[in-house]
Amino acid sequence: MDVHRISEELENLAPEQALETVLMANHSARICLTSSFQAEDMVVTHLLRNRRPDFVVLFLDTGYHFRQTYEYRDLMTKQWSLNLVNALPAQSVAEQESELGILYRSEPTRCCQLRKVEPLMSALEPFDIWFTGLRREQSPTRRNLKKVELHRLPTGRSLWKVSLLADWNWEQVWQYANANAIPHLPQYDEGYLSIGCQPCTALPSDPQNPRSGRWGGTKLECGIHTFSTQEET
Ligand code: SF4
Repeated sequence: MDVHRISEELENLAPEQALETVLMANHSARICLTSSFQAEDMVVTHLLRNRRPDFVVLFLDTGYHFRQTYEYRDLMTKQWSLNLVNALPAQSVAEQESELGILYRSEPTRCCQLRKVEPLMSALEPFDIWFTGLRREQSPTRRNLKKVELHRLPTGRSLWKVSLLADWNWEQVWQYANANAIPHLPQYDEGYLSIGCQPCTALPSDPQNPRSGRWGGTKLECGIHTFSTQEET
């Protein structure tokens, strides 16, 4: 399958048609979506739910999320009958803090590695297609995102990474969410634009960069979108 060609083809398609094209090219693929239950993830969840309700929602349960995020996750999982898998780190928050201290302050990259990247690496193994809610507009680090990329996991397995909303802007996300009466995380009403673990999420300092409120502006990515290797096609 020519991933480069299909990605080009998807570039001019709306998310619904792009999803159809991906699924037609992968009839019996095992499908997952990584979701932090942010607005983009809920749009992709809504799209997938209509078309392939058996897909798995992978939530990286770091133990550091906002209480409101856990409550919203549980509410939407129940309301939409989602196949939720909470990908857990090897250690609980208490065990990690007791052994290594408060890593999100001293070594946030290591903290993300232990609590997000490693659990995700294992969680992705059974799947053929990994959907995301990533958008190019979200961050300078995502500017070159393709709608379909071929990614190699550390074990050597390759899978498609599909970002149906890559070319969408923030307004389009909210138009879709509102048109389909999708509830949203309550933190958006407080002014947050990008919502992850509570200790590493603040109101954005640069309105042009929604992720500028993450990690106090010291980094833009946790590593879950950079640990796998994008294969040249
Ligand atoms: Fe740790 Fe912060 Fe990364 Fe969450 S976002 S895993 S709390 S460093």
